Amino acid sequence: MPRSFDVAVIGAGPGGYVAAIRCAQLGLSTVCIDEWKNPQGKPSLGGTCLNVGCIPSKALLESSENYERAAHKFAAHGIKVEGLSVDIPVMMSRKDKIVAAFTGGVAMLLKKNKVASLHGRGTLLRSIEEHGDNNSGWQIEVKNGETVDTVEAKHVIIATGSAPRSLPFAQIDNQRILDNAGALALTEAPRRLGVIGAGVIGLEMGSLWRRLGSEVTILEALPTLLPAADEQVAKEALKIFTRGSGLVINTDIRISGIQTSEASIAVEYVNAQDKEGNVQKLEVDKLIIAVGRVPNTAGLGADNVGLKLDNRGFIEVDSDCRTNLPNIYAVGDVVRGPMLAHKASEEGVAVAENIAGQAGHVNLDTIPWVIYTSPEIAWVGKNEQELKAAGIQYKAGQFPFMANGRARALGETGGFVKVLADATNDRILGIHMIGPYVSEMIAEAVTAMEFAASSEDIARIVHAHPSLSEVLHEAALAVDKRAIHI
Ligand code: FAD
Ligand code: AMP
Repeated sequence: MPRSFDVAVIGAGPGGYVAAIRCAQLGLSTVCIDEWKNPQGKPSLGGTCLNVGCIPSKALLESSENYERAAHKFAAHGIKVEGLSVDIPVMMSRKDKIVAAFTGGVAMLLKKNKVASLHGRGTLLRSIEEHGDNNSGWQIEVKNGETVDTVEAKHVIIATGSAPRSLPFAQIDNQRILDNAGALALTEAPRRLGVIGAGVIGLEMGSLWRRLGSEVTILEALPTLLPAADEQVAKEALKIFTRGSGLVINTDIRISGIQTSEASIAVEYVNAQDKEGNVQKLEVDKLIIAVGRVPNTAGLGADNVGLKLDNRGFIEVDSDCRTNLPNIYAVGDVVRGPMLAHKASEEGVAVAENIAGQAGHVNLDTIPWVIYTSPEIAWVGKNEQELKAAGIQYKAGQFPFMANGRARALGETGGFVKVLADATNDRILGIHMIGPYVSEMIAEAVTAMEFAASSEDIARIVHAHPSLSEVLHEAALAVDKRAIHI
């Protein structure tokens, strides 16, 4: 007889493991099925985020930023550093230890909450029908090599995440042509590094290896980098990232081929603005492909049970993450909405609470976005181009970090904060930031929007001095043309 549970969660990334813990907290018997193996071939919970995404990338970005500070920024503080060098294998092993602590931590949390953890690929097999066509649960196969197990569950939460999108002419081998996993595991900085895609992952990976000594060239198909960001923020980012010996970013390009030889990887491309269509060539030692991610539904058994996918392969869900099938839900990267870990987790919590009869809900309009480049970029809500396209009348208030005492003390004065508020009732519609530690500052903006604040509300709140948060305060004042320090 298969083991039977109230809830089976497929996938143990931030969507799945958080959903499983919340289900268990609510008294539901829960199993969490995950197939991820670490490079040593051992099961490793936490999905993309903990193994090859958010956590390892932030660990390495911090290390490389420290190196950059010591090499280029300490001197302005009167701190002299001689004989500076970087030991990338030590940096990698620090990152690996952080990853191991967290993936092990997830295993411990599942155990503590009495969530059964099964290693292997979960495939939906069939609906269990007790009385004619009444669905009373689902049967799931869990396959780990030759070992096959079957479990039954009344409710299923699919949290199978996403995988890197590949390009037809670039075979990823994670030796020379890399996806995010390969880009986070190099043992030395390539002399010449190419990155295809100037989205979040491409910019973070490019920044990381540039700081460690690579000459980095990024090729982007669209006319601008960071298509999801506010255009003014993207423009400021381009200006700062490409300054001096920074990143080389070529936008509006079309790749026509990639040739690998022993000496190099040659990327051939044309610039869309070039009427003559001259083919240009970028020769690099390693190439990172960062052209987005695709939902992970391979082997899930969608066809076995008639689970509906949309035309881009995402599992179709309603606003409460319900699929077309009774008692089957899907959360995180495998469904619509931003591919962000905190969005996945909050959807997991909401679904668990709804299964338990509570009123879980996620407000997709107030999901914060953060990009951990230097300076960092963060936003919540609508950007100016979206408001214009929707014909919404708005007022904008902006304030630069240059005029902020704390930013000056840090020596990080690039960027600004922009507050967008409804022209008729002053309600905040979006807040956009580029500057130091805006990954932390964005929390105030999210809180304000969740509480339906007006720009006047933020303007009236006392912000500590000297702190970076004063830049948000002044930007809110600027909506009404009454910023003080500019
Ligand atoms: P995943 O984390 O992808 O987890 C899905 C899990 O399901 C995996 O373990 C997978 O092996 C397993 N699985 C899939 N199919 C099956 C199956 N049939 N049976 C069993 N198991 C299965 N987001 C942020 O919010 N902040 C960041 O700073 C950030 N940085 C990132 C950096 C990089 C380099 C990358 C690649 C991503 C980053 N992200 C970041 C995105 C974030 O990692 C994802 O949004 C998040 O991991 C999605 O969570 P998830 O639970 O939906 O899926
Ligand atoms: P993200 O979705 O943030 O991971 O970003 C992926 C980026 O890759 C986006 O800016 C895309 O425009 C870009 N991109 C997608 N396909 C290509 C391609 N074939 N060549 C260059 N850039 C691409």
